[in-house]
Amino acid sequence: MPNQLNSSPAHGAWPDARGRFGEFGGCFVPETLMHPVEELAEGFEAARRDAAFQAELDRLLRHFAGRPTPLYHAQRLTEHLGGAQIYLKREDLLHTGAHKINNCIGQGLLAKRMGKARVIAETGAGQHGVATATVAALLGLDCTVYMGEEDMARQAPNVFRMRLLGTQVVSVASGSKTLKDAINEGMRDWVTNVHNTHYLMGSVLGPHPYPLMVREFQRIIGKEAREQILTTARRLPNLLVACVGGGSNSIGLFYEFIPDAAVKMVGVEAGGRSLRLGDHAARFAGGKPGVLHGTYTYVLQNDDGLIAPTHSVSAGLDYPAVGPEHSALYREKRAEYTYVSDAEALEAASLLARKEGIIPALESAHALAEVVKRAPHMARDQVILVNLSGRGDKDLGIFQAAGIL
Ligand SMILES: *Cc1c(COP(=O)(O)O)cnc(C)c1O
Repeated sequence: MPNQLNSSPAHGAWPDARGRFGEFGGCFVPETLMHPVEELAEGFEAARRDAAFQAELDRLLRHFAGRPTPLYHAQRLTEHLGGAQIYLKREDLLHTGAHKINNCIGQGLLAKRMGKARVIAETGAGQHGVATATVAALLGLDCTVYMGEEDMARQAPNVFRMRLLGTQVVSVASGSKTLKDAINEGMRDWVTNVHNTHYLMGSVLGPHPYPLMVREFQRIIGKEAREQILTTARRLPNLLVACVGGGSNSIGLFYEFIPDAAVKMVGVEAGGRSLRLGDHAARFAGGKPGVLHGTYTYVLQNDDGLIAPTHSVSAGLDYPAVGPEHSALYREKRAEYTYVSDAEALEAASLLARKEGIIPALESAHALAEVVKRAPHMARDQVILVNLSGRGDKDLGIFQAAGIL
């Protein structure tokens, strides 16, 4: 088995030239977007080979965003759960409070290099919008962010942050008024303004080259974490755990470990209120393959193939499709995918706050809730490495509404 997994196409060969991860991914866009995505793929390939581009990316990740982030041994949480040693990759300590800034700095620099004076983005939780607005200010780019009306209400402070940073926030009132509809609006804008505009996608979603490009900008998480765990624990982890919205923080952590066949990987999706269609965002438990926003992947849909509504207490996980590379890792059984409920995530967040003095984002709390389930069944000399993708300040209103405060 190990040898078979070591030779997995998942590491190195994915995606192929057409943007396919096995049978998933690809580039399903209208004619008007064919040229822009091809131009982007070429621009990215040129940039990643450019030493000056890499040096500037490294400089901003280090001195602006705050990399490398610590890998923290959560000793009190470990004691409390009484099993495996738990290490937290502290992406919550980055500027703007989540891993999203890694990708935004990368794509912002790429936009500049390609001569685009304007960036547009979609946002769910507002985290990606804030990270994009931040990078746009840093690099002197014009910025427009599309956000569902419901998300704007749920995450009002992030709307104010974006405006303070000089970004125009456009409210999207169509469909379910959440992330999926914001992406539709963003794509429409891109078609019209492609001559001067870069679409800054927030996760490993969308048509090729986005899933590849965003993964490459988030890989730094796993690169650092792998070195750090080898230095501090002197061994590889038994288990990686990360929450999966679009899938960028999880693929960012997982990717570097894919050739390490002994390292298990678990992606945690939003189980929401129940597993009834419309009550959750657990694409692997409740979805099937289909095309959404330019990529072929697991999608929540009804029997007629219509995109299903989704629900999660955490706006960042509330999206009907998952990044295509995850669909491929799932199909290959290289990674496992599960889900936890809104209530379990809220409880895990409050546990981490009390045991470790860290208030996690509700997205990250989904990963922690899975750790709470698994750690007690593992031996004390085993290691779990969990990605703490973001901090919880943005979620205080939700904790309060849930009766936790
Ligand atoms: C946006 C977000 C997520 C979900 O996005 P991925 O692309 O799946 O990583 C997870 N955690 C936090 C803190 C976020 O802001």
